[in-house]
Amino acid sequence: MIPRNTLSAWPGVLEFYREYMSWLPAGAQIVTLQEGKTPLIPAPRLVAEAGGGFELYLKYEAVNPTASFKDRGMTAAMTQALARGSKLVICASTGNTSASAAAYAGRAGLRCAVLLPHGKIALGKLAQARMYGAEIIALRGNFDDALRLVRELGTRPGVEVVNSINPVRIEGQKTGAFEICDVLGRAPDFHFLPVGNAGNITAYWRGFREYHQHGITTSLPRMCGFQAAGSAPIVEGRPILDPQTIATAIRIGNPASWSGATTAVEESQGLIESVTDDEILHAYGLIARLEGLFVEPACAAPVAGLLRMARKGLIPKGSLVTLTLTGHGLKDPDTAMDQTKVDAKVLDPHVDAILESLGF
Ligand SMILES: *Cc1c(COP(=O)(O)O)cnc(C)c1O
Repeated sequence: MIPRNTLSAWPGVLEFYREYMSWLPAGAQIVTLQEGKTPLIPAPRLVAEAGGGFELYLKYEAVNPTASFKDRGMTAAMTQALARGSKLVICASTGNTSASAAAYAGRAGLRCAVLLPHGKIALGKLAQARMYGAEIIALRGNFDDALRLVRELGTRPGVEVVNSINPVRIEGQKTGAFEICDVLGRAPDFHFLPVGNAGNITAYWRGFREYHQHGITTSLPRMCGFQAAGSAPIVEGRPILDPQTIATAIRIGNPASWSGATTAVEESQGLIESVTDDEILHAYGLIARLEGLFVEPACAAPVAGLLRMARKGLIPKGSLVTLTLTGHGLKDPDTAMDQTKVDAKVLDPHVDAILESLGF
């Protein structure tokens, strides 16, 4: 039997991995919602779907406090903003950064403004930003326009930018890699994740490398990042002016951490490829039906990429593969409803009617 006292209090990622947070001022008040310590869930049915022969674990970041991995970086950004005495935190966002920033700013007692591409934010994410009390500015423009403006606004005194161009965001997010290694007792052979602004692939690679440098792990994974085909600047080697994809979280044409992503791929002998929206939507359904994990469309990009690589024989037998599922499916209920045209059967309330309808 597992002793009950293993259910110990979790202090959040900054406190738990403090010795890897050299930027964190001693005595700083940490702004946390106890983010991190997310499940690493085996996915045998997805492996079977991909043809078998390897092990796959899904890092389910949907169960962070605001339901995406962004909370790992936001605890760092908001802790720093508070320590610096910032008056206003701002971010550009495709949705999840704004949800996370709004929550953590509220907790820190800081004013928060979020710049969003008008009409392109998934419903759940907008509901979050509104509920947490952010000041919402909808721009006639895309994420890249919003980020350009945020960079400019960030030069004003008292303003703290909490996008991943803020280096401490990456510091917080590297803890996802630490947790994977801590749970597995080793580094994976491959790590898969979606790529939008490319902060997370940069962060995971830093995390895997730091554990390796400290001798906690003895190997490094190949980093495999996936962009959406209509929004694949790194794959195409040029900024995309009007990026398009159903996966709104990765609808970004000019990633801020572009060089971080290419460095991760080169140093790890990994790759960045693109998958079509059709592949994304197919994988989106599979993750939910085969593994019981409801994620938002962006998470399906690396799953689609993994299926394709495995079927081509590019995942050697016996490999240990991990994949980050970055955000919760409930954030984007519209896409879920559009993809599942199964209407409920409306019946009279009788057992016989139910059994007949089920053919059981
Ligand atoms: C932010 C986000 C991404 C993209 O991460 P980057 O660090 O911008 O590459 C992917 N999926 C979800 C759910 C996100 O919120």
